[in-house]
Amino acid sequence: MAGVPRNTKQKQAVYDALCRLDHPTATEVYEYVRSAHPTLSRGTVFRVLGGFAAEGRVRRVTLEGSDARFDHTLAPHAHGRCRLCGRVTDIFLPDYASIARGAICGGFQIEECDVEFSGICSECNKKQMREDAKEE
Ligand SMILES: [Zn+2]
Ligand SMILES: [Zn+2]
Repeated sequence: MAGVPRNTKQKQAVYDALCRLDHPTATEVYEYVRSAHPTLSRGTVFRVLGGFAAEGRVRRVTLEGSDARFDHTLAPHAHGRCRLCGRVTDIFLPDYASIARGAICGGFQIEECDVEFSGICSECNKKQMREDAKEE
């Protein structure tokens, strides 16, 4: 590809991986990108991700007991983590956006928020319902 600098292509590959994977960790992004770009090093992928987060192109999400994950959805939202399969789901709550964007609650100025709910994802819910149906 003439005219496209090498590091632009690398950045594009990392960004594409982020969009395809669901809230991946840096390692998951690296493993995904590596299949198509074997020459890309782990260090480069981590650096590109860190750069995206610093530029505000992606959001770094910290969930309890897990490596940092990367999210390409920038609209304020909370996360739900499935206690059965570990899947992370975006949860859009009414009022969340205005709170996350700097509300003052009880005199406290909110600057950032990472809200995590724990529960059962839609897939596991469906599976459970199928199993319940079988038992009857
Ligand atoms: Zn699940
Ligand atoms: Zn998300």
